[in-house]
Amino acid sequence: MPYKWPGDTDFAFWELDVLDRDCPACGRMMHICDHRYRRLHTLEGPVQLVCKLNHCPDRDCPGHAKTKSPEQEASIAPPSWAIGWDVFCWIGHRRCSRHMSIPLIQSELLDDYGIKLSDDAIAKYIQRYQVMLAARQQDPEALRRQYESVDEIVLSIDGLQPEKGHETLYVVRELTQKRVWFAEALISATNDEVQRLIAKAKEWATSLNKTVSLWISDKQDAFVTGIAAEFPGVPHRYCDNHFLRDLAKPVLEADSHAKVQMRSKVRGLRKVEQAVLKHQNAEASTSLAGDDPTATMIVIVGPATPPSPPADSASAVVLDYCAAVRGILNDDQGGPLHPPGLRMAEALKEVRQSIQRNLDVKKGVSKRSSSAVWPTASTGDWSRSRPSKSQFENMSRISRR
Ligand SMILES: [Zn+2]
Repeated sequence: MPYKWPGDTDFAFWELDVLDRDCPACGRMMHICDHRYRRLHTLEGPVQLVCKLNHCPDRDCPGHAKTKSPEQEASIAPPSWAIGWDVFCWIGHRRCSRHMSIPLIQSELLDDYGIKLSDDAIAKYIQRYQVMLAARQQDPEALRRQYESVDEIVLSIDGLQPEKGHETLYVVRELTQKRVWFAEALISATNDEVQRLIAKAKEWATSLNKTVSLWISDKQDAFVTGIAAEFPGVPHRYCDNHFLRDLAKPVLEADSHAKVQMRSKVRGLRKVEQAVLKHQNAEASTSLAGDDPTATMIVIVGPATPPSPPADSASAVVLDYCAAVRGILNDDQGGPLHPPGLRMAEALKEVRQSIQRNLDVKKGVSKRSSSAVWPTASTGDWSRSRPSKSQFENMSRISRR
């Protein structure tokens, strides 16, 4: 990666000597034969390295033709990189641990450290970081150190789909140390292929000399047979999450049905909004339709639109109610412990209570039960609603309280 340095770059000079100067071939003290200069970015600023190269003074020694570089150079930066290890680790950590985008990494490097790198260069460094990380992740020595104090291990296997349409990634994790052991994308997850992964996990456990006390999975057939074959006698338990999800399936089906029913009942939002906007547009008009029997409908769902400026807040309230109800109807969040339909029913109840509170304020103590209000409101003929002027005035007073 050739790097173009601006002419006015202020470099710090770091001079590096060969520390062990004995000729590796004959043991004679080596001489400095040349200097190599290189420039690189560090988090402390731009650096110019001056590397003193050594060789054996004896022309007949094999150590004469071969120069030796200062040992420390490789600990500052890999050969021919424009950045030091510190910048490299900074980039890799931002990407892999904090999931920052390349443009964001690029701008932070420039803003915080004055390091200007192209997005291509950053992408290449990230790729190298990932290769190193993967190698490190499976390094047997590092793994052995991590498991030194562990007596028994618990393994889990699961298939993940990283992106739609991509092959499933099978991941084997060890749960006591919360560590991913390995992951493989299986194009066809046959029982044999899955068992191969489980056998690989067995090899790892054997090489660590650890007893596997438990396996956890969603218990799909390939896992059940594979684990039984490779780990006879080792218990195989359901993953809590999957277990709950499977158990909740009938509940979620009923919940989904309830949602459909609620959605079919709570309708007419668009018409309410259109009526509101129409009134807003009819600013000049002061003689609106008189008391229309359907006018109460719109009041029930929310205060209606006044054309005059003091009452603007009332139409905003109606639109806010509509937006809130639409949000509730479109919300699909919630897991088995808090199903979406239940959330929807709770939220709609809150809206109904809120509207009822408005009505109570307007009419004094309401003579209706709140449950009677909602069905009326949701089935009303919104398009014909034309609240009278007196109603506007009432609503605007209420909404300003
Ligand atoms: Zn020599």
